[in-house]
Amino acid sequence: MIGAIEAGGTKFVCSVGEVDGEIKETTKFPTTTPEQTLDQVIEFFKDKDIKGLVIGSFGPVGINKDKADYGFIKDTPKLAWKNFDVISYLKKAIKCPIEITTDVNVAAFGEYKLGSGIGYKNVFYSTIGTGIGGGYVKDGELFIGNSHLESGHILLAKEPEDADFKGVCPYHDGCFEGLAAGPSILKRLGKEGFELEEDDPIWDLLARYIAKACVNYTLTLSPDKLIFGGSVSQQKQLFPLIRQYFETYMNDYIQVDNIDEYIVPAQLGNDAGIKGCLVYGGTIF
Ligand code: ZN
Repeated sequence: MIGAIEAGGTKFVCSVGEVDGEIKETTKFPTTTPEQTLDQVIEFFKDKDIKGLVIGSFGPVGINKDKADYGFIKDTPKLAWKNFDVISYLKKAIKCPIEITTDVNVAAFGEYKLGSGIGYKNVFYSTIGTGIGGGYVKDGELFIGNSHLESGHILLAKEPEDADFKGVCPYHDGCFEGLAAGPSILKRLGKEGFELEEDDPIWDLLARYIAKACVNYTLTLSPDKLIFGGSVSQQKQLFPLIRQYFETYMNDYIQVDNIDEYIVPAQLGNDAGIKGCLVYGGTIF
């Protein structure tokens, strides 16, 4: 059995399960202070017979084991968690190997093993929801660079009708997240994405930004597949538009074998993080 934690900014989900992704038992509680939250984690896992524990965490978080900040939550607006050493706190009470990576990375690994990435070696996964984050499974292993990817903050050329829109990212005027994450819809239209019709013009605009990001990810990572999860990606009418704009922008510079199988929605839904932790744990413990 493997232990799995989806450590989010608003809630923690703790599960035990099998390396094939089967979830046996789960508990959830709100994210409060680090000590209070992690003591609940310890309480859940203390009598569980697990051979390892994988944490998919909100970020930014140190995930490179060669660095001094491995296991630390870094510069977060949740001030009580800023610079908190999650791994060391848990290791005092949980006596098994503990591995931490991002929530997006475990979801990427879940899609690679159990979802839309089955059968492919190089799978790039991006979530488009409240924010935009990405994870890359390269040759069957999670890519961990100097730190985790921040592929939601790549800068994109603004569309003409969007020239005056500043985006919603406090750091960048014109990054992918600022232009295409869920809050950008609210800021432009005063409505949430789920309140809009399928043929609202905003979807065509977002599809152009997502297609530009797909071009950039394709050119820099050369993946076999681009998978999109998160609430915005649940708008299925986006995908034909994204594929069409991708081909226009790429302009045959690189040929993709089958565009309908190249840019696809995620399959695992709400369990992606926990299932991802379990199958990832199966490859590292
Ligand atoms: Zn940004």
